[in-house]
Amino acid sequence: PVAIEFDRVGFGYPGGPPVLHEVTFTVAAGTRTALVGPSGAGKSTLLALVERFYEVTSGSLRLDGVDVRDLPRDVLRARLGYVEQEAPVLAGTLRENLLIGAPDTTQERLRGVLDEVNLGHLARRTPEGLDVQVGEGGVLLSGGERQRLAIARALLAGPPVLLLDEPTSNLDARNEAALRRAIDAVAVRRTLLIVAHRLATVVDADQIVVVDGGRVVATGTHDELTVVS
Ligand code: ADP
Ligand code: ADP
Repeated sequence: PVAIEFDRVGFGYPGGPPVLHEVTFTVAAGTRTALVGPSGAGKSTLLALVERFYEVTSGSLRLDGVDVRDLPRDVLRARLGYVEQEAPVLAGTLRENLLIGAPDTTQERLRGVLDEVNLGHLARRTPEGLDVQVGEGGVLLSGGERQRLAIARALLAGPPVLLLDEPTSNLDARNEAALRRAIDAVAVRRTLLIVAHRLATVVDADQIVVVDGGRVVATGTHDELTVVS
C-alpha cells in the first residue's frame, strides 16, 4: 500500500513565488525514501507539506489514501513524527524532553530508547540519571545529539510515518554512525521520508527522489540512478 502520495503538488510560501511545481511521487508503506538535491530545491518544504505545517497550493497530497486537508490535526499528529534538522531541546530534564507526547512511558523503556539512539550515556554519566538537565544550564548537546534525542522522542510516540530532516553540519565518525543506527531503529516497521545529506542514508534508501528547482528530476534506487549512460 501507498503511505504518502504527492500528486502534481504545487506550492508557494505566502506572498512569495511558487517553490514547488507539479511534484509527483509516492512512498510505499514500510519503505525509506531519501530526498536529495541542492540547497533551496524544496526538500524541507516537502516535509512541511506532509505535516500540513503549510497547505499545498495546487494538486493533492494524500496520507494512506486520504487528502491531508481532510485529516483532523490530532489524527495527523498520531500518524506522523517529524524530526527537524535543528531539533530543539527544551529547557528541562532529559526525562521531560522524552516524555512529550508519550507521558506514560516506563523508566525501562526510556532507557531502552536512549540506548537505541546511542544516548544512553547521558542518563548514566550523572547521579541525576534521567533527571539530568539538558540544554541551557545543563548538559550541552551537539546538533547530532539533539537530533537523536528528537528521534528517541519520536520513537516513543510510535507514529507509523516519520519525516526526518538530517543535520547538515559536520558529524564526526562516531556521531555519524550513531545517527545511522538511530535511523535504522526507527525504520523498523515504519515509513520514512528523509531529507538526506549523508551518502549512507541515500544508499540505504528503497527509493531516491531527486529534487531541483522545486521539481522532481529523477526517482529510482541508488543503482538505477548511478548507472552511467
Ligand atoms: P531545501 O530543503 O531543498 O534546501 P527549502 O524547502 O528549504 O529547500 O526551500 C525551498 C525554497 O523555498 C527556497 O527558495 C527557499 O528560499 C524558500 N523558502 C523556504 N522556507 C521559506 C519560508 N519560510 N518563507 C519563504 N520562503 C521559504
Ligand atoms: P553537530 O556537528 O553534531 O551537528 P552542531 O554543529 O549543531 O553539532 O553543534 C556544535 C556545538 O554547539 C556543540 O558541540 C556544542 O558545543 C554547541 N551546542 C550544542 N548544543 C547546545 C545547546 N543546547 N546550547 C548551546 N550550545 C550548544
